[in-house]
Amino acid sequence: MKVVVCVKQIPDPADPGELDPDTKTLKRDVKLILDESDSYGVEMALQLVDDAGDGEVHLVSMVPNNEVSGLRTALAMGAAGATLISDECLSGSDALGTAKVLAKAIAAQEPDLVLSGTESSDGYTGTVPAQIAELLGLPSVTFAKEIAIDGGTAKVKRQTEAGYDDVECPLPAVVSVTAGVVEPRYPSFKGIMAAKNKPVEELTVEALGVDPAEVGWAGSRQDIIDIAAAPVREAGEIIEDEGDAHERIVAFLDELKVL
Ligand SMILES: Cc1cc2nc3c(=O)[nH]c(=O)nc-3n(C[C@H](O)[C@H](O)[C@H](O)COP(=O)(O)OP(=O)(O)OC[C@H]3O[C@@H](n4cnc5c(N)ncnc54)[C@H](O)[C@@H]3O)c2cc1C
Repeated sequence: MKVVVCVKQIPDPADPGELDPDTKTLKRDVKLILDESDSYGVEMALQLVDDAGDGEVHLVSMVPNNEVSGLRTALAMGAAGATLISDECLSGSDALGTAKVLAKAIAAQEPDLVLSGTESSDGYTGTVPAQIAELLGLPSVTFAKEIAIDGGTAKVKRQTEAGYDDVECPLPAVVSVTAGVVEPRYPSFKGIMAAKNKPVEELTVEALGVDPAEVGWAGSRQDIIDIAAAPVREAGEIIEDEGDAHERIVAFLDELKVL
């Protein structure tokens, strides 16, 4: 079984850098790391291939500056290889432009299953996986907490607010994996050394067969009108108990509409 996992490489959330005032996008000319949201997809894929007894996990990533640091982390976890798409003309791509590029790279791998995160940690539109499925004409299942493969069928427990739905769909399919549902393995020393020699195919937009007019600033159908710094978090209110603390806490929670 061949599982392709979409892996986004993002600026380290602990030191995310700055927004570019001209383009109003995040400057990504810093070291990028594997988005934690995608480590769950990688782990899920490795477990499914283990369960199947044969097959491999292949990664696809669209990123500026041919960055591979995050990919190497996922390769060290056990993925067999990767496709990296990096091109000047991709700058300014919106979610649909990103999906068009990833869909082409995925199709070339002829996978049985495509996994992704539910939403990335930096852009978090949560739209790319469903767009990939639509572009490839494949079933889309979102918010997976468990996946089992039964012949040519994916059986997915799809997380909901109330619990989960059981969803079945034919393979190949695109399934987005909810964060936190599996424990991503730590790369072993052997895995880190092996990752250095695993194949990473680097492709341009032209090599992929995508029209440059459909991606980047040229193809983006969204405009960023304005950006603003997130408000500084204010100190919380400390409630001293003078016999009425419980009432004040209930009133506060009621005001937040969480009761
Ligand atoms: C007008 C506009 C301009 C932008 N300009 C830039 C820019 O110049 N440079 C830039 O870096 N970003 C830019 N962005 C943001 C970037 O395009 C988004 O990050 C991208 O579209 C993915 O959307 P998302 O992060 O919301 O994905 P989500 O839908 O939240 O991601 C869900 C999952 O899809 C997969 N996925 C998403 N993106 C990738 C990827 N790149 N590679 C592999 N898997 C992926 C991952 O598995 C991820 O967990 C721009 C966005 C807009 C709207």
